[in-house]
Amino acid sequence: MAEITLDVDFEPDFDVIVVGGGCAGCVAAYKLAEAGKAVLVVERGNYSGAKNMTGGRIYTHSLAKVFPDYLDAPLQRKVSHERISLMAPDSNFTVDFTSRELTEPGQESWTVLRAPFDQWLAEKAEEAGAEIIPGIAVEDLLMANGKVVGISAAGEEMTARMVILADGVNSLLTSKAGLSKPAPAIDQVAVGAKETIQLDPAVIESRFLCNPGEGASWLFAGSMTNGAIGGAFVYTNEDSISIGIVATMSEVIKQDIPVYQMLENFKNRPEIAPLIRDGKLVEYSGHVVPEGGLKMMPELVGNGVIVAGDAAMMCMNLGYTVRGMDLAIASGEIAGKAAIQALDAGDTSKAGLQCYKTMLDQSFIMRDMKQYENFPEFMEECPRLFKGYPEMIRDIMNPMFIVNGQPRESLKKMAMGPIKEIGMFTIAKDAMKGMKAL
Ligand SMILES: Cc1cc2nc3c(=O)[nH]c(=O)nc-3n(C[C@H](O)[C@H](O)[C@H](O)COP(=O)(O)OP(=O)(O)OC[C@H]3O[C@@H](n4cnc5c(N)ncnc54)[C@H](O)[C@@H]3O)c2cc1C
Repeated sequence: MAEITLDVDFEPDFDVIVVGGGCAGCVAAYKLAEAGKAVLVVERGNYSGAKNMTGGRIYTHSLAKVFPDYLDAPLQRKVSHERISLMAPDSNFTVDFTSRELTEPGQESWTVLRAPFDQWLAEKAEEAGAEIIPGIAVEDLLMANGKVVGISAAGEEMTARMVILADGVNSLLTSKAGLSKPAPAIDQVAVGAKETIQLDPAVIESRFLCNPGEGASWLFAGSMTNGAIGGAFVYTNEDSISIGIVATMSEVIKQDIPVYQMLENFKNRPEIAPLIRDGKLVEYSGHVVPEGGLKMMPELVGNGVIVAGDAAMMCMNLGYTVRGMDLAIASGEIAGKAAIQALDAGDTSKAGLQCYKTMLDQSFIMRDMKQYENFPEFMEECPRLFKGYPEMIRDIMNPMFIVNGQPRESLKKMAMGPIKEIGMFTIAKDAMKGMKAL
């Protein structure tokens, strides 16, 4: 970090500088600007969302809290179908859940594409009075007397009473501020590859059995990751499908097929190919996902600095649901509020910014992060979720559905063979551990 000397009558350029114009950064800037604070967002992409990626489906509760007009945002389709699948090399078992309650205000979720969505958030922040400089990466933090007092970017220095780090999962600045280790462990992060495939809206609705304007979230575990911890996803957008693979980095490096090949193989599966047939590839992206949960969180408050969103590792992948954007938005809102409180009290030191931690602890963010604290370990201890259980289900279902003139066995006998192969005791232990972790 660059140490600078401040004059006695030092007046900073801004009240707050926000690093990163993604979900967390734009919302923090919006809250600050709305309260009349001088706030600058520095975003390395040519526009907000240019470098961002998600699966993606956003649970809109936290967006609705900040923006009552959130339905004007470029949301894609309201999710009315929740599908989860266990995929063996030659079979696929799917649960398709629909319920009116899934689509009710306050608890609904929408599919989303980050480029238009993040630009909408950035416009909201700008309309409220925030300044946004895109196309510049922040390289370092400025320090004076042990306190963060600004940033340096593209050879220029800019000062502020405090800095909010919302620079995503690869936040080099969090470690420069002394709040985290230089890099997360490779078993705490996953790598994601995604394609966006354009299709006619009516084709999407008929292939995914959805009404106009509604869509599906579909998560898969099993053979597509070749036994590695991870899975695949398919989300329906207005006129495109988001399809991708996520796999834990420590396991990916042991595989003989790279993640992009896993995605290619997944797309060619007989269950998946008809969903994207005749579609046009319009975007390809790759990104890291923080999956280590609470145990990989950095310190959230430093002297003159706080951390929000993925930079604070606020993300959770529970297999049937992936969440990061609702946490990023809520933590951005709380970061904004905490910064306003500290600025109004004239104390943006570590002590003055502790209100951020207190507000986070009282919010759903820390409660949910604590609730699922042990889930990442459960995934590591239960490789059978990815290789074992999908095959077991196949071996139970096949004799149920295959009628070939051979004498039938009782359902109990058909099921017990595959169950015994893994072991009743192992299955019961996995079920208990899974229930505890969830
Ligand atoms: C494959 C995949 C699937 C996912 N699926 C889902 C899902 O379905 N639902 C869900 O809710 N979440 C999902 N997530 C997680 C979600 O996308 C993240 O949690 C969310 O994007 C975090 O938002 P953020 O604003 O904290 O970080 P980001 O969106 O990463 O934004 C950080 C911003 O900081 C900028 N930046 C970085 N470094 C600098 C720098 N030095 N200077 C200036 N700017 C900088 C970046 O360009 C970026 O704009 C998924 C993630 C991945 C990768």
